[in-house]
Amino acid sequence: MNHKPDAIIIGAGVIGCAIAFELTKRGYKTLNIDKLPAAGFGSTSNSCAIVRFHYSTLDGARMAFENYFYWKDWQNYVGPVDERGYAKFVACGFVIFRNNDPSEQHFINLFKQIGIDYEEWSLETLREKFPIGDLHSFSPPRPIDDEAFWQEPATPLTGGIYNPQGGYINDPQLATTNLMLAAKAHGGEFLFNAEVVEVRQGNGRVSGITLSDGTQIDAPIVVNAAGPHSFVINRLAGVEEGMKIKTGALRREVHHVASPKGFNFNEKGFVFSDADGGIYFRPETGNNILVGSADPACDPKEWVANPDEVQPHVTDQVWKTQVYRLAHRIPDLEIPQKPSGVVSMYDVSTDWIPIYDQSDLPGFYLAIGTSGNQFKNAPGAGHLMATLIDAVEKGQDHDVAPVQVKMPYTGVVLNAGFYSRLREVNEESSHTVMG
Ligand SMILES: Cc1cc2nc3c(=O)[nH]c(=O)nc-3n(C[C@H](O)[C@H](O)[C@H](O)COP(=O)(O)OP(=O)(O)OC[C@H]3O[C@@H](n4cnc5c(N)ncnc54)[C@H](O)[C@@H]3O)c2cc1C
Repeated sequence: MNHKPDAIIIGAGVIGCAIAFELTKRGYKTLNIDKLPAAGFGSTSNSCAIVRFHYSTLDGARMAFENYFYWKDWQNYVGPVDERGYAKFVACGFVIFRNNDPSEQHFINLFKQIGIDYEEWSLETLREKFPIGDLHSFSPPRPIDDEAFWQEPATPLTGGIYNPQGGYINDPQLATTNLMLAAKAHGGEFLFNAEVVEVRQGNGRVSGITLSDGTQIDAPIVVNAAGPHSFVINRLAGVEEGMKIKTGALRREVHHVASPKGFNFNEKGFVFSDADGGIYFRPETGNNILVGSADPACDPKEWVANPDEVQPHVTDQVWKTQVYRLAHRIPDLEIPQKPSGVVSMYDVSTDWIPIYDQSDLPGFYLAIGTSGNQFKNAPGAGHLMATLIDAVEKGQDHDVAPVQVKMPYTGVVLNAGFYSRLREVNEESSHTVMG
């Protein structure tokens, strides 16, 4: 293939593919380059793909709600696909456990402001809807080797907040393939098993990339959508120093456990946000429950210096921590003999809010720092990035006059400056996966 792209996108995860689709629709000839063999094989493939709207900032919640409509409209949005079919949005509803944390009222205020459907559930309603749950408060979450972890809880939760519009995407990798095919249908190209080892510059702007086999591909635009490798690519481009908000790779585990016998979690379960217990969990195919970490302060963070060397096996300590926390919440859970789950990485920004931006190197753009919470937002992020790139390439200085992006479904205008690499740390952020 003789590639002469207008824009190279490093990465063919959900973010890189969404940007490709949106850029090709605007007439750009794109080339996604990925060192893995297929689209969505990186951290996207391990995503829990939860669709929820309780972000700590108004902009974050607005972006998440906008993306709900992309997922509802998925087939129409991406257009024709191949025999693998479409990823599905499982709209099972979302429940936030309440324990009188001040963030609960903050979420409700944001839901009201944005027009997101919600119901406030009493403890009795929660019990009715989730009969297998132990509805005591376990807060604050503790490590399992802390004796207090094993004490009988005494205080009940205060109820729940229910979002009927929440849910999850059943197959995040397939969703990414859908986006890749949509981009291809508009002329986008994809190069797999190809590693970018150099970001080249000339005449004061980016000029292309070099692959590990020495192949050089030129383009006036290069987008960093390299997920947990984003900081590596930023260093290749020499732009990291100029960023106030930086990114780093964080190792994560997500575990799978069978639902208690006699309870069909796939039919009767919701996606649960259980910050009180230090976890989140949702239905998983085969009447399983998928459990991940809500990033409680007591848990150590495993930052990864070299994302290519991350230890890929589920560890006893993290598995026990998450599964025992889930067993607190669901006492009938049978603890499996063998751990099962996935190991992956988040690409975490300084304040756990993504960077969707230009960089100090003209022509080099950033779609990074997705912090474990941007799968759901990928299509909207693709639209935002393509609008931003188009505006900057036409002469707008986004650092001085931030690009304003009209979102297609809700019609809301988002200030792309919210995601600037030059922002101060956003103190409203939860500084957790919640964003
Ligand atoms: C365990 C887990 C659970 C999550 N749960 C949720 C959730 O419930 N809801 C939600 O909204 N979000 C969730 N997320 C976050 C979401 O999945 C990510 O934000 C999103 O998938 C990131 O996509 P990406 O395209 O940026 O990264 P990736 O999918 O990692 O793609 C980056 C690609 O870049 C390629 N690459 C890197 N370096 C190079 C190079 N030098 N040359 C060529 N290619 C390169 C990689 O091979 C990779 O394929 C979760 C993430 C994880 C890890």
